[in-house]
Amino acid sequence: MQRRSFLKKAGLGLAAGAVAAPVIVNAQAPAAGLPTISWRMAASWPKSLDTLYGGAEHIAKRVSEASGGKFTIKVFAAGEIVGALQVLDAVQNGTVECGHTAGYYYFGKDPTFAFGTSIPFGLNARQQYAWMYHGGGLELMREFYKDYNIINFQAGNTGTQMGGWFRKEIKTVADLKGLKFRMGGTAGLVLAKLGVVPQQIAVGDIYPSLEKGTIDAAEWVGPYDDEKLGFYKVAKHYYYPGWWEGGPGLDLLIGTKAWESLPKEYQAILQAACAEAYIWMLSKYDAVNPPALKRLLANGVKLLPFPNDVMAACYKASEETYAEIASKNAKFKKVYEPWKKFRDEQIQWFSIAEARFDNFMVSTQRSSQKKAAAKK
Ligand code: CA
Repeated sequence: MQRRSFLKKAGLGLAAGAVAAPVIVNAQAPAAGLPTISWRMAASWPKSLDTLYGGAEHIAKRVSEASGGKFTIKVFAAGEIVGALQVLDAVQNGTVECGHTAGYYYFGKDPTFAFGTSIPFGLNARQQYAWMYHGGGLELMREFYKDYNIINFQAGNTGTQMGGWFRKEIKTVADLKGLKFRMGGTAGLVLAKLGVVPQQIAVGDIYPSLEKGTIDAAEWVGPYDDEKLGFYKVAKHYYYPGWWEGGPGLDLLIGTKAWESLPKEYQAILQAACAEAYIWMLSKYDAVNPPALKRLLANGVKLLPFPNDVMAACYKASEETYAEIASKNAKFKKVYEPWKKFRDEQIQWFSIAEARFDNFMVSTQRSSQKKAAAKK
């Protein structure tokens, strides 16, 4: 930048520079040939969430750095250009060039959107990326998104989420009846079968709804975000896991026209920034969640696993829901069938080395903690 502005100040345009200083021009030629492009990105997140909004900003920062400041993306938080749940429309209409969001927010238009994020009892964060980039998922989702004039990339992941905040304990399946529960994505279709009254509420409205008692329970992501949003102040029972979000991928949605107008160098930069954002966000969550959980527990939060029979009933309801949607929706079926095959193979594969390793480490840590406690 400095050298370029010096050339400008010195009255040396690039063409003039080519005559006067061929060495410098050769070094600058590739970048100099690329246009200056400014994009706008609508995000579904408030600025206060430095995990999710931070992921959107990370993409913008890396794109600018890698293009020498020639390709810039200005990120707008939820509500600045469009609401948290209108990002897809804004990209589709060309209001913004791109949007950072969760595809499953738009499951009301078509439940197929949810595969880009997660569906209940689906993939974990690694499996989601594996499906997308090596398991045929991206091709299937790109074909689906074509009808919306959008090209999609995975651009973040939260890891397995928590099950959320409940005013009352959930001891049996019957406790779900009539429960007004805010949750993300297609989980609402599943839980409705068990009597839950699902609520899709944008992030900024969750706390007031839970505080007023308009809803009985709410989930967002996990300890770090949930602590910031303050849910523990109004509902003390913190359940796990968020079985509807085993490893939800966040999407960068780009208008096809905007994407095609980018030089291939900028396309490559943006693609790389999205891949980096995926691991940046996931690793950030993994680092910041454990201390946040400790703080929540110190504040009197009651940590509880969903009972097995509740999980089993939800699993059964999920499988029924998918079969019903697939029987009516050819687009969903086209993605669901290979997705399910991939998931089932992944469960088998992860059950071998990964699960044995994790389970051994957990049980060893627990038994040494018990021994240490007994000595005291
Ligand atoms: Ca969630």
